[in-house]
Amino acid sequence: MRLLCTSILLIAGCAPRAGWTPAQAPPVVESRGVWLDKGELIEGPGALAARLDRLRDAGFNTIYIAMQVRGCVTYPGSRILPQWDGMKDQRPDLIAWLVEQIHHRGMKAEAWTEFGFYTYHTPNAGKDLSRGAVLDAHPELVAVDANGNTFLHNEQWGDFYSLCPSHPRSQAVLRDLYAEMLERFAFDGLNLDRIRYPSGDYCYCPYCREQFHKDTGLVLEKSDDGSPGQTAFMRWRKENLVRFVGELSGELRRRFPGRRITSAVVPPDMIDEKGQDWPAWVERGYLDAAMPMLYAKDIRESVRFIRERVGPRANIFYGLDAGQGMAVLGPQIDDLRAAGARGITIWYSKSVDPLLPELKAKFQPPAVSPLYP
Ligand SMILES: [Zn+2]
Repeated sequence: MRLLCTSILLIAGCAPRAGWTPAQAPPVVESRGVWLDKGELIEGPGALAARLDRLRDAGFNTIYIAMQVRGCVTYPGSRILPQWDGMKDQRPDLIAWLVEQIHHRGMKAEAWTEFGFYTYHTPNAGKDLSRGAVLDAHPELVAVDANGNTFLHNEQWGDFYSLCPSHPRSQAVLRDLYAEMLERFAFDGLNLDRIRYPSGDYCYCPYCREQFHKDTGLVLEKSDDGSPGQTAFMRWRKENLVRFVGELSGELRRRFPGRRITSAVVPPDMIDEKGQDWPAWVERGYLDAAMPMLYAKDIRESVRFIRERVGPRANIFYGLDAGQGMAVLGPQIDDLRAAGARGITIWYSKSVDPLLPELKAKFQPPAVSPLYP
């Protein structure tokens, strides 16, 4: 039996957990996570409990719960953001109950902050006077693109406003919000998301113009890719966020010792565009794990880049898209394991459902996350 488990362990490319004795089979160490999205949060406690049973039975060990959506939070009584309307018909203690239910099933729960610096979503900004609670009270914090636009238009989803990611007061909003989540609920960790600029065209707000000039001596203006001004701007944006994540991580670790800090992050080819130099966050120890969202059919180039940049021992829990089906996902999981990946994170709670029987076969034997040995 031990030989069998050891060989599975080697195939999976996982390290045994410290502290096991030769009399016991070493547990497989691999994070197997899934993002629990807002749509599934509101399906009611009975359906949610059954969903958690299915995820546990399939071998998942970590659930990332949607906590910050569309400029709101999914729990009542926040000091910072209103509660999302979708949650108002749910039991008031749903999040606390859910965390308890996850723990009861032997899994870990992290607060997934889906929106990050994004602070409001509306189907049509032209018909909606609000820009969300924070921006309505502090309009000076809005992110502005090179042409003066204050929201990002997405053909499929509508319009998104973002806080200026460079602004210290925007950063303070997120620090307070995430501390509130860890203070209020028994989460094992915080799973950051959208700690980034909306696009390569942001941010040209008055704060950014003034601060960029102070920091670099250059005037902030839209210039061609590769020009000295544009190169300095791209670097400056990354440095802003590296500094912010360092401060955020430091403060949360001081206030909430033992809680893990992880982050959903962009694929390598979007690091420059979004100003999200997340490999630096990993290298500096600001994160306990990163989940690069590799939602493509061919992820080999991205995986190669990541391994070269952060090294094979880093806790990279690769984000994969269940929507592509098991014919794509299965070989991706096999390849990642062969390359020594420390974890897999599946997007997302709804689309993963039909794959659970096949994932269950992939997720045998059960595993513990490297973050929660
Ligand atoms: Zn700005």
